[in-house]
Amino acid sequence: MSHHAAPFEIAPLPYSFDALEPHIDRQTMIVHYGKHHQAYVANLNKAIEGVPELHGLGLEDLLRDLYRAPAGVRNAVRNHGGGTWNHTFFWEGMGPRKGGEPTGLAADVVRSAFGGFATFQSKFTQAATGHFGSGWAWWVRTPEGRHEIVSTPNQDNPLTDGKFPILGLDVWEHAYYLKYQNRRADYVAAWWNVVDWETVSRRLAEAEARKTAEAAAR
Ligand code: MN
Repeated sequence: MSHHAAPFEIAPLPYSFDALEPHIDRQTMIVHYGKHHQAYVANLNKAIEGVPELHGLGLEDLLRDLYRAPAGVRNAVRNHGGGTWNHTFFWEGMGPRKGGEPTGLAADVVRSAFGGFATFQSKFTQAATGHFGSGWAWWVRTPEGRHEIVSTPNQDNPLTDGKFPILGLDVWEHAYYLKYQNRRADYVAAWWNVVDWETVSRRLAEAEARKTAEAAAR
């Protein structure tokens, strides 16, 4: 993830709008990236335009230390900063010709922390389909190195709770309504076909390196 400071720019989509077909359709990607994600970035920049004390901070720092933001803009940073970060993270966690069973480090951690892919997939699917209203399902690593599956409302990000996201799934209706209408479960089932386990493995390695660096700094 980028550590650039304000004004923030939308990260490039790492593949074409139709790359995730048929699981995630081109029209949804055009609107989701080009309108929704773009609007979060624009609204974040607008919200912090007049708040120079936030201008030197990267997006991850803004979300981790949300209470550093003055009360008047905190909710905008939570919503639009979260929306900016979460979508970049979401795009990077998917790709064409991906899916299937986890590989590499992702496979090792899924086995050791969740008891295997079937259990992990079932728990994550439950978090995604069972979340009421708009929000996200996440696989996160806690500061103690535990692995958990959680969901958050709106654009809330696990970084604000001190947790490091490993994998995230957008369950806002805007993520699936054009193709799946009210059938969120079908969207979640299809999404497993585009999960990029190499990205997941890389994030796990980053989380581990971060843990080691934090321990060394204490
Ligand atoms: Mn979204």
